[in-house]
Amino acid sequence: MRDTLQECLAALEGAKYAFTFASGQGATTSITSLLNKGDHLVSIDDVYGGTSRLMRENLPRHGIDVTFTDITDLDKLENAIQDNTKMVWLETPTNPNCTVVDIAATVQLVKKRGDIIVVVDNTFLTCYLQRPLDFGADIVMYSLTKYMNGHSDVVMGAAVLNSQEIADKLRIIQKSLGIVPSTFDCYQVNRSLKTLSLRMERHKATSLVIAKWLQKQPNVIEVLHPGLTTHKGHEVSKRQTSGHSGVFSFRHTGGLEESRKLLSCFKVFILAESLGGYESLAEIPSIMTHKSVPPPQKAQLGITDSLVRFSIGLEDPEDLIKDLENAFKETFNN
Ligand SMILES: *Cc1c(COP(=O)(O)O)cnc(C)c1O
Repeated sequence: MRDTLQECLAALEGAKYAFTFASGQGATTSITSLLNKGDHLVSIDDVYGGTSRLMRENLPRHGIDVTFTDITDLDKLENAIQDNTKMVWLETPTNPNCTVVDIAATVQLVKKRGDIIVVVDNTFLTCYLQRPLDFGADIVMYSLTKYMNGHSDVVMGAAVLNSQEIADKLRIIQKSLGIVPSTFDCYQVNRSLKTLSLRMERHKATSLVIAKWLQKQPNVIEVLHPGLTTHKGHEVSKRQTSGHSGVFSFRHTGGLEESRKLLSCFKVFILAESLGGYESLAEIPSIMTHKSVPPPQKAQLGITDSLVRFSIGLEDPEDLIKDLENAFKETFNN
Protein backbone atom coordinates (compact mmCIF):
# COMPACT_ATOMS: atom_id res chain seq x y z
CA MET A 1 0.00 0.00 0.00
CA ARG A 2 2.84 2.39 0.81
CA ASP A 3 4.61 1.55 -2.46
CA THR A 4 1.38 2.14 -4.40
CA LEU A 5 0.94 5.56 -2.81
CA GLN A 6 4.60 6.46 -3.34
CA GLU A 7 4.39 5.50 -7.04
CA CYS A 8 1.26 7.63 -7.38
CA LEU A 9 2.87 10.64 -5.67
CA ALA A 10 5.94 10.39 -7.92
CA ALA A 11 3.78 10.14 -11.05
CA LEU A 12 1.70 13.19 -10.08
CA GLU A 13 4.87 15.25 -9.74
CA GLY A 14 6.41 13.87 -12.95
CA ALA A 15 9.19 12.52 -10.72
CA LYS A 16 11.13 9.28 -10.29
CA TYR A 17 10.94 8.78 -6.54
CA ALA A 18 8.58 9.47 -3.64
CA PHE A 19 8.88 8.60 0.04
CA THR A 20 6.11 8.89 2.60
CA PHE A 21 6.47 9.64 6.32
CA ALA A 22 4.24 9.56 9.40
CA SER A 23 3.62 13.34 9.24
CA GLY A 24 4.75 16.47 7.42
CA GLN A 25 7.08 17.07 10.34
CA GLY A 26 8.39 13.52 9.88
CA ALA A 27 9.16 14.33 6.24
CA THR A 28 11.02 17.50 7.31
CA THR A 29 12.99 15.57 9.96
CA SER A 30 13.92 12.93 7.37
CA ILE A 31 14.89 15.41 4.63
CA THR A 32 17.04 17.47 7.00
CA SER A 33 18.67 14.20 8.10
CA LEU A 34 20.44 14.28 4.72
CA LEU A 35 22.66 16.95 6.32
CA ASN A 36 25.81 16.21 8.31
CA LYS A 37 27.37 17.82 11.36
CA GLY A 38 29.08 21.03 10.23
CA ASP A 39 26.67 21.66 7.35
CA HIS A 40 24.70 24.87 6.99
CA LEU A 41 21.06 25.34 5.96
CA VAL A 42 19.36 28.50 4.66
CA SER A 43 15.60 28.77 5.21
CA ILE A 44 13.01 31.32 4.18
CA ASP A 45 12.24 33.51 7.21
CA ASP A 46 8.46 33.07 7.35
CA VAL A 47 8.64 29.29 7.09
CA TYR A 48 5.89 27.08 8.63
CA GLY A 49 6.01 27.23 12.45
CA GLY A 50 6.79 23.54 13.00
CA THR A 51 9.62 23.68 10.46
CA SER A 52 10.98 26.82 12.13
CA ARG A 53 10.94 25.13 15.54
CA LEU A 54 12.81 22.07 14.22
CA MET A 55 15.39 24.29 12.56
CA ARG A 56 15.85 26.57 15.56
CA GLU A 57 15.82 24.01 18.34
CA ASN A 58 16.74 20.62 16.93
CA LEU A 59 19.20 20.99 14.04
CA PRO A 60 21.70 23.23 15.90
CA ARG A 61 21.99 20.57 18.64
CA HIS A 62 23.16 18.17 15.94
CA GLY A 63 25.80 20.59 14.73
CA ILE A 64 23.84 22.01 11.80
CA ASP A 65 23.79 25.81 11.49
CA VAL A 66 20.66 27.52 10.21
CA THR A 67 20.22 31.01 8.74
CA PHE A 68 16.73 32.45 8.21
CA THR A 69 16.44 35.07 5.52
CA ASP A 70 13.97 36.74 3.17
CA ILE A 71 14.58 34.47 0.16
CA THR A 72 12.40 36.68 -2.09
CA ASP A 73 15.33 39.13 -1.98
CA LEU A 74 18.02 37.36 -4.03
CA ASP A 75 20.78 39.60 -2.63
CA LYS A 76 19.87 38.53 0.89
CA LEU A 77 19.84 34.89 -0.21
CA GLU A 78 23.26 35.27 -1.87
CA ASN A 79 24.67 36.79 1.33
CA ALA A 80 23.21 34.00 3.47
CA ILE A 81 24.88 31.21 1.48
CA GLN A 82 28.20 30.05 2.97
CA ASP A 83 30.89 27.63 1.81
CA ASN A 84 29.33 24.87 3.94
CA THR A 85 25.71 25.53 2.85
CA LYS A 86 24.21 22.21 1.77
CA MET A 87 20.46 22.90 1.72
CA VAL A 88 18.09 25.78 0.93
CA TRP A 89 14.54 25.42 2.27
CA LEU A 90 11.61 27.45 1.01
CA GLU A 91 7.86 27.61 0.86
CA THR A 92 5.85 29.42 -1.79
CA PRO A 93 3.42 30.96 -1.20
CA THR A 94 4.16 31.44 2.49
CA ASN A 95 1.75 31.72 5.35
CA PRO A 96 -0.10 33.92 6.34
CA ASN A 97 1.11 36.64 3.92
CA CYS A 98 1.14 34.51 0.75
CA THR A 99 4.61 35.80 -0.16
CA VAL A 100 5.61 34.30 -3.50
CA VAL A 101 9.17 33.04 -4.14
CA ASP A 102 10.42 32.80 -7.74
CA ILE A 103 11.50 29.14 -7.71
CA ALA A 104 13.47 29.20 -11.01
CA ALA A 105 15.41 32.36 -10.09
CA THR A 106 16.19 30.98 -6.62
CA VAL A 107 17.41 27.64 -7.99
CA GLN A 108 19.56 29.40 -10.58
CA LEU A 109 21.30 31.49 -7.93
CA VAL A 110 21.74 28.60 -5.48
CA LYS A 111 23.17 26.20 -8.05
CA LYS A 112 25.79 28.76 -9.07
CA ARG A 113 27.08 28.61 -5.50
CA GLY A 114 27.62 24.85 -5.42
CA ASP A 115 26.07 21.46 -4.92
CA ILE A 116 23.21 22.65 -2.70
CA ILE A 117 19.89 20.82 -2.35
CA VAL A 118 16.84 23.05 -2.90
CA VAL A 119 13.74 21.87 -1.02
CA VAL A 120 10.30 23.37 -1.69
CA ASP A 121 7.49 22.76 0.81
CA ASN A 122 4.57 22.54 -1.64
CA THR A 123 1.87 21.87 0.96
CA PHE A 124 -0.19 24.99 0.18
CA LEU A 125 -0.58 24.43 -3.56
CA THR A 126 -0.06 20.68 -4.24
CA CYS A 127 1.27 19.23 -7.51
CA TYR A 128 -2.03 20.15 -9.15
CA LEU A 129 -1.26 23.88 -8.97
CA GLN A 130 2.55 23.97 -8.77
CA ARG A 131 5.33 21.50 -9.66
CA PRO A 132 8.61 22.84 -8.22
CA LEU A 133 10.76 20.09 -9.82
CA ASP A 134 9.87 21.57 -13.23
CA PHE A 135 11.64 24.77 -12.11
CA GLY A 136 14.80 22.98 -10.98
CA ALA A 137 14.06 22.25 -7.30
CA ASP A 138 15.61 18.99 -5.99
CA ILE A 139 13.02 17.87 -3.44
CA VAL A 140 9.33 18.64 -3.08
CA MET A 141 8.18 18.26 0.53
CA TYR A 142 4.54 17.74 1.56
CA SER A 143 2.36 17.72 4.57
CA LEU A 144 -0.14 15.32 2.95
CA THR A 145 -2.27 16.05 6.03
CA LYS A 146 -3.52 19.18 4.26
CA TYR A 147 -4.77 19.45 0.66
CA MET A 148 -3.28 16.24 -0.71
CA ASN A 149 -5.44 14.12 1.61
CA GLY A 150 -7.97 16.93 2.04
CA HIS A 151 -10.42 15.16 4.33
CA SER A 152 -8.92 16.19 7.69
CA ASP A 153 -8.62 12.56 8.78
CA VAL A 154 -4.99 11.61 8.10
CA VAL A 155 -1.58 12.92 9.24
CA MET A 156 1.19 12.15 6.74
CA GLY A 157 4.13 13.68 4.86
CA ALA A 158 6.17 13.03 1.73
CA ALA A 159 9.35 13.84 -0.19
CA VAL A 160 9.27 13.66 -4.00
CA LEU A 161 12.43 13.86 -6.14
CA ASN A 162 14.40 12.80 -9.22
CA SER A 163 17.97 12.32 -7.98
CA GLN A 164 18.92 8.68 -7.52
CA GLU A 165 21.75 9.67 -5.19
CA ILE A 166 19.38 11.52 -2.81
CA ALA A 167 16.74 8.79 -3.17
CA ASP A 168 19.23 6.10 -2.07
CA LYS A 169 20.01 8.12 1.06
CA LEU A 170 16.34 8.89 1.84
CA ARG A 171 15.40 5.22 1.46
CA ILE A 172 17.88 4.33 4.20
CA ILE A 173 16.76 7.28 6.35
CA GLN A 174 13.10 6.24 5.96
CA LYS A 175 13.96 2.69 6.99
CA SER A 176 16.29 3.53 9.88
CA LEU A 177 14.42 6.46 11.47
CA GLY A 178 11.15 4.54 11.22
CA ILE A 179 8.98 7.63 10.76
CA VAL A 180 6.67 5.72 8.43
CA PRO A 181 2.90 5.92 7.85
CA SER A 182 0.45 3.10 8.49
CA THR A 183 -0.94 0.95 5.69
CA PHE A 184 -4.47 2.18 6.34
CA ASP A 185 -3.42 5.83 6.15
CA CYS A 186 -1.64 5.13 2.85
CA TYR A 187 -4.86 3.61 1.54
CA GLN A 188 -6.82 6.70 2.65
CA VAL A 189 -4.45 9.19 1.00
CA ASN A 190 -4.27 7.12 -2.17
CA ARG A 191 -8.07 7.24 -2.38
CA SER A 192 -8.17 10.98 -1.63
CA LEU A 193 -5.80 11.70 -4.51
CA LYS A 194 -8.46 10.46 -6.94
CA THR A 195 -10.38 13.69 -6.29
CA LEU A 196 -7.40 16.04 -5.99
CA SER A 197 -8.09 17.85 -9.27
CA LEU A 198 -11.78 18.37 -8.46
CA ARG A 199 -11.05 19.60 -4.96
CA MET A 200 -8.23 21.94 -5.98
CA GLU A 201 -10.31 23.48 -8.80
CA ARG A 202 -13.06 24.18 -6.29
CA HIS A 203 -10.71 25.60 -3.62
CA LYS A 204 -9.09 27.78 -6.29
CA ALA A 205 -12.36 29.14 -7.72
CA THR A 206 -14.13 29.78 -4.41
CA SER A 207 -11.12 31.41 -2.74
CA LEU A 208 -10.79 33.89 -5.61
CA VAL A 209 -14.52 34.71 -5.45
CA ILE A 210 -14.20 35.41 -1.72
CA ALA A 211 -10.96 37.38 -2.10
CA LYS A 212 -12.68 39.62 -4.67
CA TRP A 213 -15.74 40.03 -2.44
CA LEU A 214 -13.49 41.07 0.46
CA GLN A 215 -11.68 43.62 -1.73
CA LYS A 216 -14.99 45.46 -2.14
CA GLN A 217 -15.70 45.80 1.58
CA PRO A 218 -15.17 49.27 3.09
CA ASN A 219 -13.73 47.73 6.26
CA VAL A 220 -11.10 45.68 4.46
CA ILE A 221 -7.68 47.32 4.05
CA GLU A 222 -5.93 44.64 2.00
CA VAL A 223 -6.46 41.12 0.74
CA LEU A 224 -3.32 38.96 0.53
CA HIS A 225 -4.21 36.56 -2.28
CA PRO A 226 -1.72 35.85 -5.12
CA GLY A 227 -4.59 35.46 -7.60
CA LEU A 228 -5.39 39.20 -7.27
CA THR A 229 -3.55 41.58 -9.62
CA THR A 230 -2.92 43.83 -6.59
CA HIS A 231 -0.76 41.16 -4.89
CA LYS A 232 3.02 41.67 -5.01
CA GLY A 233 3.65 38.09 -6.11
CA HIS A 234 0.92 37.97 -8.77
CA GLU A 235 3.21 37.95 -11.84
CA VAL A 236 5.61 35.29 -10.50
CA SER A 237 2.63 33.28 -9.32
CA LYS A 238 1.15 33.37 -12.85
CA ARG A 239 4.45 32.06 -14.25
CA GLN A 240 5.00 29.14 -11.91
CA THR A 241 1.51 28.05 -10.81
CA SER A 242 -1.83 27.33 -12.42
CA GLY A 243 -3.64 29.25 -9.69
CA HIS A 244 -3.90 29.63 -5.94
CA SER A 245 -5.53 27.34 -3.38
CA GLY A 246 -7.84 28.26 -0.49
CA VAL A 247 -5.34 29.68 2.04
CA PHE A 248 -5.10 33.46 2.17
CA SER A 249 -5.45 36.38 4.57
CA PHE A 250 -6.97 39.83 4.76
CA ARG A 251 -6.51 42.85 6.99
CA HIS A 252 -9.47 44.87 8.31
CA THR A 253 -9.83 48.32 9.88
CA GLY A 254 -10.46 47.03 13.41
CA GLY A 255 -8.25 45.41 16.03
CA LEU A 256 -8.24 42.19 18.04
CA GLU A 257 -11.78 42.81 19.30
CA GLU A 258 -13.15 43.02 15.74
CA SER A 259 -11.18 39.94 14.66
CA ARG A 260 -12.67 37.97 17.55
CA LYS A 261 -16.17 39.32 16.91
CA LEU A 262 -15.98 38.47 13.20
CA LEU A 263 -14.94 34.90 13.90
CA SER A 264 -17.59 34.44 16.59
CA CYS A 265 -20.33 35.45 14.13
CA PHE A 266 -19.50 32.78 11.56
CA LYS A 267 -21.92 29.88 11.17
CA VAL A 268 -20.32 28.15 8.18
CA PHE A 269 -16.63 29.02 8.71
CA ILE A 270 -15.14 27.08 11.64
CA LEU A 271 -12.65 28.70 14.01
CA ALA A 272 -9.56 26.48 13.69
CA GLU A 273 -5.84 26.54 12.87
CA SER A 274 -5.49 23.77 10.29
CA LEU A 275 -5.91 24.14 6.53
CA GLY A 276 -6.46 22.28 3.29
CA GLY A 277 -9.59 20.34 4.23
CA TYR A 278 -13.15 20.21 2.86
CA GLU A 279 -14.39 22.61 5.56
CA SER A 280 -13.80 26.38 5.54
CA LEU A 281 -11.70 27.57 8.47
CA ALA A 282 -10.86 31.01 9.84
CA GLU A 283 -8.23 32.00 12.40
CA ILE A 284 -6.32 34.97 13.85
CA PRO A 285 -2.59 34.28 13.18
CA SER A 286 -1.29 36.80 15.77
CA ILE A 287 -2.87 34.88 18.68
CA MET A 288 -3.14 31.40 17.12
CA THR A 289 -0.86 29.88 14.43
CA HIS A 290 1.82 32.59 14.75
CA LYS A 291 1.50 33.30 18.48
CA SER A 292 5.08 32.17 19.21
CA VAL A 293 6.68 34.39 16.54
CA PRO A 294 8.80 37.01 18.42
CA PRO A 295 7.11 40.49 18.42
CA PRO A 296 9.73 42.29 16.24
CA GLN A 297 9.49 39.59 13.58
CA LYS A 298 5.70 39.63 13.85
CA ALA A 299 5.73 43.35 13.15
CA GLN A 300 8.14 42.90 10.25
CA LEU A 301 5.94 40.20 8.71
CA GLY A 302 2.80 42.28 9.23
CA ILE A 303 1.17 39.71 11.51
CA THR A 304 -1.11 42.17 13.31
CA ASP A 305 -4.30 41.55 15.32
CA SER A 306 -6.37 42.77 12.36
CA LEU A 307 -5.08 40.00 10.09
CA VAL A 308 -7.50 37.08 9.58
CA ARG A 309 -6.54 33.91 7.72
CA PHE A 310 -8.92 31.68 5.81
CA SER A 311 -8.68 28.17 4.48
CA ILE A 312 -11.52 28.08 1.99
CA GLY A 313 -13.19 24.67 1.81
CA LEU A 314 -15.53 22.96 -0.62
CA GLU A 315 -18.86 24.51 0.43
CA ASP A 316 -21.16 26.43 -1.90
CA PRO A 317 -19.51 29.85 -2.39
CA GLU A 318 -22.89 31.55 -1.86
CA ASP A 319 -23.20 30.07 1.64
CA LEU A 320 -19.74 31.37 2.49
CA ILE A 321 -20.48 34.87 1.14
CA LYS A 322 -23.74 34.97 3.13
CA ASP A 323 -21.82 33.96 6.24
CA LEU A 324 -19.29 36.73 5.58
CA GLU A 325 -21.99 39.34 4.85
CA ASN A 326 -23.67 38.58 8.14
CA ALA A 327 -20.44 38.58 10.16
CA PHE A 328 -19.26 41.88 8.62
CA LYS A 329 -22.65 43.47 9.31
CA GLU A 330 -22.59 42.32 12.95
CA THR A 331 -18.99 43.42 13.48
CA PHE A 332 -18.78 46.71 11.62
CA ASN A 333 -22.46 47.74 11.63
CA ASN A 334 -22.70 48.23 7.89
C1 LIG B 1 1.03 21.42 8.36
C2 LIG B 1 2.26 21.80 7.66
C3 LIG B 1 3.47 21.11 7.89
C4 LIG B 1 3.59 20.00 8.92
O1 LIG B 1 2.82 18.91 8.57
P1 LIG B 1 2.15 17.88 9.61
O2 LIG B 1 1.57 16.85 8.71
O3 LIG B 1 1.13 18.64 10.39
O4 LIG B 1 3.25 17.35 10.47
C5 LIG B 1 4.57 21.51 7.16
N1 LIG B 1 4.52 22.53 6.27
C6 LIG B 1 3.38 23.22 6.04
C7 LIG B 1 3.38 24.31 5.05
C8 LIG B 1 2.22 22.88 6.72
O5 LIG B 1 1.08 23.58 6.51
